[in-house]
Amino acid sequence: MEPVASGSPKPDPTPSSPSTSAPPPPSRYESQKRRDWNTFLQYLRNHKPPLTLARCSGAHVLEFLKYLDQFGKTKVHVSTCPFFGHPDPPSSCACPHVQAWGSLDALIGRLRAAYEENGGRPDSNPFAARAVRIYLREVKESQAKARGIPHEKKKRKRKPTVTTVRLDVDLASGIAGEGSNGVSPSASGAKLPLG
Ligand SMILES: [Zn+2]
Repeated sequence: MEPVASGSPKPDPTPSSPSTSAPPPPSRYESQKRRDWNTFLQYLRNHKPPLTLARCSGAHVLEFLKYLDQFGKTKVHVSTCPFFGHPDPPSSCACPHVQAWGSLDALIGRLRAAYEENGGRPDSNPFAARAVRIYLREVKESQAKARGIPHEKKKRKRKPTVTTVRLDVDLASGIAGEGSNGVSPSASGAKLPLG
């Protein structure tokens, strides 16, 4: 099983055992994956010249990602826009909307899985192509620069410093989720083995 990189730590109530008679209803991820896969197959059918899955390469995947930009909802400023690099522009501008990097990244992850679930060989998986990885990284960096928003805004694991509790007791107990059991106030700085 491949761990999902940004998944929530919520435990799955239905562990996937190899042989269950009643399959669980598809999760949101699964149905989204199926939708994405159908979108991609549709794209191939409409491709000119016609393209089959077997002949699909990383370059075609990039084409597909660029094609999706027209449906994007994320404004990314061009470098000549006065708001380039402004996370919160004071007014609107004419810059185009594109697909946000995070959406593309998640999409590629789902399609990569779907490709292999539909019989594709891992070593010929176009969604795992090097060109696709490089493209995604470039999109990530350029969008972060243009929007002035670094993508690492998810709570980052900093150094495991045990902060001394300076909050009100009520508040502290309200948010104390983990590692707060039995911490004696003047213990020798309990270090959690994180990282
Ligand atoms: Zn702009």
